[in-house]
Amino acid sequence: MTHVLMDLPFAADALEPYISRETLQYHHGKHHATYVNNLNKLIVGTPFEEMSLEAIITSSSGGIFNNAAQVFNHDFYFNGMSNANTMPSDKMLELLTRDFGSAEAFKEKFIQMALGLFGSGWVWLSMNSNGVLVLEPHSNASNPLLSGLTPLLTCDVWEHAYYIDYRNARVDYLEKWWTLIDWDLVSRKLEAAQQ
Ligand code: MN
Repeated sequence: MTHVLMDLPFAADALEPYISRETLQYHHGKHHATYVNNLNKLIVGTPFEEMSLEAIITSSSGGIFNNAAQVFNHDFYFNGMSNANTMPSDKMLELLTRDFGSAEAFKEKFIQMALGLFGSGWVWLSMNSNGVLVLEPHSNASNPLLSGLTPLLTCDVWEHAYYIDYRNARVDYLEKWWTLIDWDLVSRKLEAAQQ
């Protein structure tokens, strides 16, 4: 199958001033697009050509893995943002409180983990098979599908995600990104993961 670059679920200027149109033009229009194009080139004539993105991720390595996982990761990241000022559902708040102490403690832990991630990578909130929320840093293209978790939310902490708008100030990016989380979507993913 041919993989296709997703359309952004918002206008190019919808996240301004926190994430600029210019950042999205590079991050979605160039970085994300390049991962899609590279993946499509690399799978030609291989068994991966007929597989879903998720199947490729859990069965490949090297360049095919890196590009497939980066397509998935960026789809997840861009779909997870909104300028609608959403709030976690009651169920989401209940589990954040149960597993991290409070919603505020969860935010603090998430941001500290993102600040502590050396080099390029992602911070992922997932649910494990026991219904427990799991927060993990992943380097480079890695993601929770590799360990059988159900991903709920991710933040891209590669420099290309924030360098145009925030230069080296990763913490400022993280604080602003936090206000753009689409909690309606995260809460729906939580409901689906619990079934
Ligand atoms: Mn990125």
